[in-house]
Amino acid sequence: MYDVIVVGGGNAAFCAALSASESAKKVLILERAPEEEAGGNSRFTAGLFRLAYTGPDDLKTLIPDLSAEEIANTDFGTYTEEQFLDDMARVTEFRCDPDLTEILVKKSLPTAQWMRKRGVRFTAAWGRQAFKIGGKFKFWGGLTVEAVGGGPGLIEAETQIAKKAGIEIWYGARALSLVSDDSGVHGVTVKKDGRTFQVQGKAVVLAAGGFQANTEWRTRYMGPGWELAKVRGTRFNTGDAIQMALDIGAAAHGNWSGCHAVAWDRNAPETGDLAVGDGFQKHSYPWCVYINADGKRFVDEGADFRNYTYAKYGRVILQQPKQFAWQIFDAKLKQQLRDEYKIRQVTKITGNTLEELVSRMDDTDQKAALETLKEYNAAVQTHIPFNPNVKDGRCTKNLAINKSNWANTLDTPPFEAYAVTCGITFSFGGLRINTQGQVINSDGGLIPGLYAAGELVGGIFWFNYPGGSGLTNGAVFGKIAGASAAAAATGR
Ligand SMILES: Cc1cc2nc3c(=O)[nH]c(=O)nc-3n(C[C@H](O)[C@H](O)[C@H](O)COP(=O)(O)OP(=O)(O)OC[C@H]3O[C@@H](n4cnc5c(N)ncnc54)[C@H](O)[C@@H]3O)c2cc1C
Repeated sequence: MYDVIVVGGGNAAFCAALSASESAKKVLILERAPEEEAGGNSRFTAGLFRLAYTGPDDLKTLIPDLSAEEIANTDFGTYTEEQFLDDMARVTEFRCDPDLTEILVKKSLPTAQWMRKRGVRFTAAWGRQAFKIGGKFKFWGGLTVEAVGGGPGLIEAETQIAKKAGIEIWYGARALSLVSDDSGVHGVTVKKDGRTFQVQGKAVVLAAGGFQANTEWRTRYMGPGWELAKVRGTRFNTGDAIQMALDIGAAAHGNWSGCHAVAWDRNAPETGDLAVGDGFQKHSYPWCVYINADGKRFVDEGADFRNYTYAKYGRVILQQPKQFAWQIFDAKLKQQLRDEYKIRQVTKITGNTLEELVSRMDDTDQKAALETLKEYNAAVQTHIPFNPNVKDGRCTKNLAINKSNWANTLDTPPFEAYAVTCGITFSFGGLRINTQGQVINSDGGLIPGLYAAGELVGGIFWFNYPGGSGLTNGAVFGKIAGASAAAAATGR
């Protein structure tokens, strides 16, 4: 008999298990994936955590080896709780659950500090979230901290810490259903090594991710066309734990037709490849001109900082003819392109003139594309200075769809175009929890012994998402759910 069984092997699951182990003796993690593919979407990440902080002193609690020189050479700015709350409200169009969102924000820094204390190491995200201006790094967009070693480093660290804490981990162990009766949940039915059996537990935490890797559910809940999206991360998040909970009366909650989806290499495999990780993403689009197969622009590439648009623009690309688009850059902007543009597995064409570039755009109305690019060039307000660190207002005027910031003319060869499609990251719909991480049933009551955290919880993210909130969400509510489950199991 286990005190707490945690279903899932990603960041939310590890935080739940670690937190449970602080008061419960016997904690078990059931991970569906084999060990070499374990770690869920969390392992695919860059390891970026969004958290509220007031300055370098807060950051030093997470990154004790931040040197005086690094602090002197960096403008970390601040990211207050108010800013984080505002960002959540704005990007979710004011639908995010107010109680859960307040916890997410207020517990973001203390939870990361707890992870640090348990042994997870963090660093500043110099490579991704800071630009160098006048010899000084300046962070932008409220996203400053990442786990050392990114997602793989995070999962490796959490696995070692869990093992040291005496937490058992079963790999290749797929949870199939919950063992329950009128008094609540008492364990999990598992399939492992071809054998199906029950594992008894006093409390169960579900942290098995969303349903984005389930093609049929994607099409059923997100709509026609979603079967054509690529899955950015793990192939194992097929909604199992959501179904297990619904089967015993849990309430479905949140934005079931919504998801996090981004620009992703058109020729990427159907599901994530751990060797490439998040390298298939193409996130430098605020500096690009987007063209679809009809040769038309279709979105304001510079509507906001990348952090606040990237998660909803995947859907916009999926809605384009043939579900793809080109990101077009000229040589002026080349050094601004993120590292993911330099990987070997990239779908890219080049040309020394716009005519030559366009002639290489297969599957595209090339005549319309050239006209669109010329019309765009003529509309750029070049008298406004370009500044990638602020919303610079360097826009286009009088186009059917204008670019609001960072508009640059395409005039310096060689020109480059990258073909992207929609890559789905995770589904937004899931289960309803209360502020203790307890799962709510469809009558509004509790399901005794059942807790949930991470991607499979609905009601926090809707329509869109501020970058780096997924890991924070899993950590904050994983810790809470684990502690609640352990308290229920041990009667403390
Ligand atoms: C390419 C990519 C990059 C990303 N970058 C970032 C980033 O930098 N920062 C950020 O905050 N977020 C990022 N995200 C989002 C982030 O990965 C998720 O929000 C977060 O990791 C979800 O954590 P989780 O623990 O809930 O789910 P996961 O980490 O996906 O874990 C779910 C686990 O459940 C297991 N499982 C599934 N079904 C079963 C079953 N039936 N039985 C047992 N186990 C099961 C899976 O194998 C997996 O181990 C990124 C996602 C992707 C795909």
